[in-house]
Amino acid sequence: MKLTLTQALRPAAWVALSLTALWPALAPAQEHPIVLKVGLAYDGKGGSIRNTTIVVEGSKILRIGGAAPRDAATYDLTGLTVTPGWIDTHSHIGYHFDNSGRNAGRGEPQSQSVLHVVDNAVMTLNAGFTTIQSPGQMADKDLRDAIARGIIPGPRILTSLQPLMENSGDPDRLRELVRQRKEQGADFIKLFASKSIREGGAQTMTDAQLQAACGEAKSLGLRTLVHAHSPESMKAATLAGCTSVEHGAYGTDEVFSLMAEHGTYYDPNIGLVLQNYLENKPKFLGQGNYNEEGFAFMQKGLAITLATFKKALTHKDLKIVYGTDAVAGAHGRNYEEFIVRVRDGGQDPMAALESVTSISAASMNMGDQIGALAPGLQADIVAFDGDPLKDVTAARRAAFVMKGGKVYKNLRPAR
Ligand SMILES: [Zn+2]
Repeated sequence: MKLTLTQALRPAAWVALSLTALWPALAPAQEHPIVLKVGLAYDGKGGSIRNTTIVVEGSKILRIGGAAPRDAATYDLTGLTVTPGWIDTHSHIGYHFDNSGRNAGRGEPQSQSVLHVVDNAVMTLNAGFTTIQSPGQMADKDLRDAIARGIIPGPRILTSLQPLMENSGDPDRLRELVRQRKEQGADFIKLFASKSIREGGAQTMTDAQLQAACGEAKSLGLRTLVHAHSPESMKAATLAGCTSVEHGAYGTDEVFSLMAEHGTYYDPNIGLVLQNYLENKPKFLGQGNYNEEGFAFMQKGLAITLATFKKALTHKDLKIVYGTDAVAGAHGRNYEEFIVRVRDGGQDPMAALESVTSISAASMNMGDQIGALAPGLQADIVAFDGDPLKDVTAARRAAFVMKGGKVYKNLRPAR
């Protein structure tokens, strides 16, 4: 077949034209860098920076300092205090009060449940928490993935999916379940190695069960978070090579020394979870071990956990992460843990800030992605009205929240 010159050229010309027309739609979403004008920033690793610019390109921090690029969008954060996005390593993002105001149970219609969980995600992000770890339930996976797709505002989520416990099976079965969780998409493994604080916190999983679960997880590159209150259960988790001990209400000097020696992370939850239960008692009372006895125990638990936290602080090598154990009613108030740690626990405010940023990021093996202000890291950036290191209540006033380079909250207009 012989084409005329015009016929031969036409398709090519059409392709060229259409590519030009389509190109803007095909290009990545963010074209222009964003420049944040900063008066005071804490970098999350103990340092502070004054009067600078943070240049964000795509989802990451391009550089700190230097001239603003042309055509860049600018947010003026001077007068606010800038930090990396905060991290909650222990938030039950799915727990919520139902339409009747009670702690939600099985009877709730799924359409309502899903929306309450979205509330939790939005409130958590608006509070300045750009990453959370949920230990965990199967429904977390869909929420995690929907937020990652960018269709729902919320923190970046890591989840254990369904936790494992003493009656999950013998060591062989536990190894199998750990592999199954990984296949199901879990980011880490959650284990219950002791009873709840409401029931005294005694060890439940055997040493052999813990060794099997934590050992198998480690061989698959998964971290393990272990609910453990009694010294025996905390010790068993540490010796089994598990990554982190959660709660640890009855931790002793001996156990904290052992944990520091093994590099086991400690996640005390002293500022939000028990207070939240007590404030919302009628919404929980009558369900499971949320009985009068349980609430009396939680009341006593306030002083116990605070004293244990103070003890932990004397162990300088112990790596303390920032988890709240947020349940229904607590989401969006994850900052209360910071306030109690500094105000009542006597933690150095800069150390508390490092805990909620870089130390928590490191505990999640994400120190090269989040938890600090540095070029190449995700642009998870929060600005507070006030300086949380000088006035802890400023932690309640996140005025600007950026996650992965996208602005989700800005109480100041963009220029
Ligand atoms: Zn928990």
